[in-house]
Order: sequence, then structure tokens, then C-alpha cells
Amino acid sequence: MYHSIDSIDRGKGLRSLHVSSWLFKLQLSILYILGYKGLDMDRLLPYLKGEKTGKVFGITFDDGYENNYLNALPILEKYKYTATCYLVANNIGGKNYWDIQKGFAPHNMMTNRQIKKWISSGMTIGSHSLNHVKLADLSKSKMKKEIIESKLKLEEEFKVKVNHFCYPYGSFNDTAEELVKIAGYESAVTVSRGVENNSPNLFRLTRVFITHRTYPHLLLLKLFSSYEKQRKK
Ligand SMILES: [Zn+2]
Repeated sequence: MYHSIDSIDRGKGLRSLHVSSWLFKLQLSILYILGYKGLDMDRLLPYLKGEKTGKVFGITFDDGYENNYLNALPILEKYKYTATCYLVANNIGGKNYWDIQKGFAPHNMMTNRQIKKWISSGMTIGSHSLNHVKLADLSKSKMKKEIIESKLKLEEEFKVKVNHFCYPYGSFNDTAEELVKIAGYESAVTVSRGVENNSPNLFRLTRVFITHRTYPHLLLLKLFSSYEKQRKK
């Protein structure tokens, strides 16, 4: 689980969400050398379902930062890896207002044109709701809107199937999970920590937190030991 691929100064807040380009490249190069292939959620799905086996891992970006396009895309292309970016459907070309409200630095989100290039480069998109809200706090009808309308809006705008959902803030409940299934998504990711291996719940997928301090030794611990599962949020 990545968010922003850029370096950010100390004290700017939420620094852990920003992984510098060189560290991102280093992380991918290690997995490449180990013989692993990085995949977007569509290509990863058969592995999660147990229909395919192989040395693969999923690469996801939450929120839709412009730097995913500017900085991460060339590195992904270098390794012939693909990734999924979860977009906030009502905030294409906007700013990370949900973080700015808390006093954190503003960042640009990908524009419509950049998302189209992201897709034409072989990458995929998923939904991160309409407005980046905590789903568990919403009424069922509002929740439905966030989950279903975001899918339709992104599909309409970018002419692709949007098969994967990402719960904003990792906030969900049984109703949200049910609505995600009804909407026709094939998976949903949380912010619960852990590596998924055998028969995961596709609508409550755990992920591995990658931060500005996930240096090689830590990356290997997180991916190949029970380290990540033992960490609390
Ligand atoms: Zn988010």
C-alpha cells in the first residue's frame, strides 16, 4: 500500500505516506531481483482466488496523487510492473482536502488527462469512494452513493471497468462490505496490516504499509515474515 511517491520535509505531517522516488525504485528493484512480478488488482485477482500461483505481489496507490503519474509510472514501466490507483471520483484534478483540513501539506491529485495516460500505459484504476469519507459513519443510502456512484462515474469518465474498491480511512462495516459486493466490485482493500496468501476474504483484503522508512531490510521483514501482521495500526 502506497500513497504518495515523493519526498516531503520533516515536520510536514503524514510524512509516512510519502515514499521518495529513489526508495520506491529501490523497493521494486529488490523484488525484481528476487524474481517477483508487481501486479495491478485485476491481474492479481486470479492469484488471490487461488486460480493461479506464482511469485507475484500487488501494487496499490490510494487517493490518486499526481506524483503517482509523474514519479511512480516511469519506475513501474521500467520493471514492466502494473499497479492500481484508487481514485476519489469527485476529486479528479483536485487536492488532498481531507488531509489539508487537518493541517497537512496540500498535494495535487492526478488530472483527467493524466489518469487517461496512466490507463493507456497499462495501469488500472479503482474506486476510493466519491468524497473520501468514513463509510462506517454514513447512513446506508449515503454509503450506497459513495460506493456505487463512484464506480459508475469513473467507468463513464475513463471508459474502463472499475472492479476494485478501497475503503477510505479503512473505515467499513458489514453493510459497506455488502454494498461493495452488490455494486459488482470484485475486491476491496482495507488498511489492516498483513500479507495475503491463502484464500483471503476478497472484500477485506489486508495490505503491507510502505512508508518513507521502509528500507530494504524492513521491506523484506514485512513481506516475508509475520512482522506486518504483528504490528498494530
Ligand atoms: Zn485515502
